Amino acid sequence: MTKQQNKPQTVMSRALKSELAMIAGIMEGSPDAVGVAVIRLECGCRKMAAVDRKGDPASKIIAYRDGAESICAKCQEDHGAFHRVTETFIDWADQNLSDDDKVEIEVKVLGNRPLPQ
Ligand SMILES: [Zn+2]
Repeated sequence: MTKQQNKPQTVMSRALKSELAMIAGIMEGSPDAVGVAVIRLECGCRKMAAVDRKGDPASKIIAYRDGAESICAKCQEDHGAFHRVTETFIDWADQNLSDDDKVEIEVKVLGNRPLPQ
């Protein structure tokens, strides 16, 4: 595989600074990971998990809340229920993935985007 020099055309990462530190930590502990799925919840908590090239989890799911020791009471109760998710995306670390690969992984991991025909 040749090394891709060009910047990807699509906007793929919208991670905040506070999230990036967490993402970097997850990537460090997940050698098979090609990116980290970020799930933002309406309460302000976050869930993250590394994903591998096949769209399978490459780390445990990490739930946290900025500036807090633990996630909120609601999340502890429902584990960040899907209907409270406000945003999901993958912060990609592997620059060699094609857009098709990314879409495939996103659909498998996030499950909220239809495959393009
Ligand atoms: Zn919460």
